[in-house]
Amino acid sequence: MPRLAAFRLGHFLPALLLLGGGLLAATLPTLTDFFTSLFNVLPTSLLLLGGTFCVVYGRQRELFMLLVLYLGYFLLDEQADYYLEFGVVREDAALVFHLCSLLLPALYGLFALWQERTHLIQDLVARAAVLLAVVGVAAALARRYPQELEQWLSVIRWPSLHAEWMSLVQFAYPLFLLVMLALLVQYLRTPRPVHGVQFVGALALLWMLPNTFIHPHALQVMSSVVMLMIVVGVAHEAYQMAFRDELTGLPGRRALNERLQRLGRNYVIAMADVDHFKRFNDTHGHDVGDQVLRLVASQLRKVGGGGKVYRYGGEEFTLVFAGKTVDQCLPHLEAVRQAVERYQIQLRDRQQRPSDDKQGRQRRSGSGASQVSVTVSIGVAQRGEEQRSAEDVLKAADKALYGAKSAGRNCVSTQVQRRRGAVKLKTEQA
Ligand code: GH3
Ligand code: MG
Ligand code: MG
Repeated sequence: MPRLAAFRLGHFLPALLLLGGGLLAATLPTLTDFFTSLFNVLPTSLLLLGGTFCVVYGRQRELFMLLVLYLGYFLLDEQADYYLEFGVVREDAALVFHLCSLLLPALYGLFALWQERTHLIQDLVARAAVLLAVVGVAAALARRYPQELEQWLSVIRWPSLHAEWMSLVQFAYPLFLLVMLALLVQYLRTPRPVHGVQFVGALALLWMLPNTFIHPHALQVMSSVVMLMIVVGVAHEAYQMAFRDELTGLPGRRALNERLQRLGRNYVIAMADVDHFKRFNDTHGHDVGDQVLRLVASQLRKVGGGGKVYRYGGEEFTLVFAGKTVDQCLPHLEAVRQAVERYQIQLRDRQQRPSDDKQGRQRRSGSGASQVSVTVSIGVAQRGEEQRSAEDVLKAADKALYGAKSAGRNCVSTQVQRRRGAVKLKTEQA
């Protein structure tokens, strides 16, 4: 299951922290006036702020999730307010609550799983039509047959599966289970921050619904928290788009520029460049070239000595070692250079891709697959008298890289003393 490796705690952590904070606030017996007023306006503010954010950035999926959450909050809040004011539930409370217990997870799950594929306006119209149709039918049925619908919803169809603590309609539990499973699968197939958030959000809703009439602030706090999770998820992805390179998953040039501003007095910068990559692309095609860049990135990422790797651009990578000297970094750079050199890349015809792993292994060990490898040249420089700023060190590393290329490629070169030129550390090559 290679995708499991992509599971990242960072995709879940902000949502889990919000959930923890929400649970704490929601279960407090009393909230101060300040927090009561805050949670009274938070869902509406989040809908307006988050909704605007989603509209501006074309995030229809998250926009409709916010709308669904707000609608659920609005309907249940009316009931909760009535209950708090009069000490009894309104006559239609059970029906509204049962409908929300079903429609909230169903629509939340539907919009969360509905990928944005079509044209922006078409997508918006389709989502709005589905939301209106579902809510419209439910409202019409509730108005026309209130008692029958309530009875039909509250029947316990599977007594053996019913437990005392289950206060939602029985259908709601398999529905939540199904939605959460589907959201988990979606995350594992495409591990994105928003997909992680959607899963944690469903958990929060599963807690919120049965607690709506038990904890007076459960509804406002949890609705706010789930809406906030979604907005944070969208912001997280926007940040990633700006700072992460999509092809390799490494932090990109912007992230490097930020890092360069925050380096201390001692550091080392290395520039790594794939050798003859243009030729490689011309021979094997751009797609294979992209695969190779990913593999090179995965090898460079393993660099020891506390080095951090960035994709500088094209087939060039930058490695930053804070608080290190060139001598301390050289063994680690030499190790990654060798790792890239040793890495054999299997080329297979896409059409002839084996259907299972066993077949693939057999084919790889046989003569069907051709193997290729690439090498990298690395130039290293450290901060010193001659180059005091990060930009200067980077330039010096680039110069050293040029030296490595002139020296025959597939080597690590350092430019310690300018006048004597590059000190080349050529190692044995296959
Ligand atoms: P040298 O050993 O001197 O570095 O030669 P080179 O061919 O690697 O260098 P050159 O700068 O001439 O070519 C770099 C090539 O990298 C050109 C471009 O086609 C390729 N390249 C840059 N970015 C990407 C990318 O994202 N994907 C793929 N597949 N190729 C890329
Ligand atoms: Mg280059
Ligand atoms: Mg190159």
